[in-house]
Amino acid sequence: MSHLFPALTTPIQSWLTMASELLPDSPSAKLDMEVLLCHVLQVNRTYLYTWPEKSLTEAQYSKLTGLLRERQQGHPVAHLTGVREFWSLPFKVSPTTLIPRPDTEVLIEWILDRYAEKSLLSVLDLGTGTGAIALALAYEKPQWSVVACDRVSEAVQLARENAEALGLQRVTVVESDWFSALGQASFDLIVSNPPYIPASDPHLSEGDVVFEPSSALVSGEDGLQDIRKIVSESRRHLAEQGCLIIEHGYDQAEAVQAIFTAQGFVKVASGKDYGSQDRFTFG
Ligand code: GLN
Repeated sequence: MSHLFPALTTPIQSWLTMASELLPDSPSAKLDMEVLLCHVLQVNRTYLYTWPEKSLTEAQYSKLTGLLRERQQGHPVAHLTGVREFWSLPFKVSPTTLIPRPDTEVLIEWILDRYAEKSLLSVLDLGTGTGAIALALAYEKPQWSVVACDRVSEAVQLARENAEALGLQRVTVVESDWFSALGQASFDLIVSNPPYIPASDPHLSEGDVVFEPSSALVSGEDGLQDIRKIVSESRRHLAEQGCLIIEHGYDQAEAVQAIFTAQGFVKVASGKDYGSQDRFTFG
């Protein structure tokens, strides 16, 4: 759907109040507008509310209206700006990987809490995408040894770029289809946000996910194909007392716990996301 845009002289404040009119199909129109204005003006969010009367230059106006047109066509805001914050760190994103989600931050919280006393730990992030999980952990724990892997070479490249931009080159990023290129390596902690959506899920044809790679989202008919594989192969790559933690859908905790238990994992339990929905399982 296309809309007429307000005039060049329109102040920042009015762009914000018109957000839902200009982006009627977005569930987060106001936030989208804030992020796009910040991107175009190269300012932070505080600026928008400190100088609400400011208007855009001609170049900024043409950039903003171009981006709004793309957003009206459904492109995710993160693809338009090229970045998404995760764990308050900026991650470069691309259409070849999943856009990091806030709910994945609960895994980081859980890990930092559980291993708060551990100064040394070897960690593997399976299917790292942008590098979000691996790099957030490495950022918080400079002494931990962190390896990240992804099957998609563009993702490996992107995760390396993000590692460099964040000054975290010590994180090793390997091209590997789950454990295939990791030899006999073993880790104290293996963490993964794998694809877990059932192929028939109707949400796959709605909203921002349409523009994300299905290889990062979909996992067989029941959504559990990759999780089954990761859980069974993890056993050979976990150190003694090692822990596997996997993100999954809100309605998959019971099934994922059963997979862990069937593979001999003990102390299996699940944790919740910011919306109080089951979001991850560990053992
Ligand atoms: N939580 C994501 C979504 O619902 C899916 C992420 C994933 O499959 N790993 O869009």
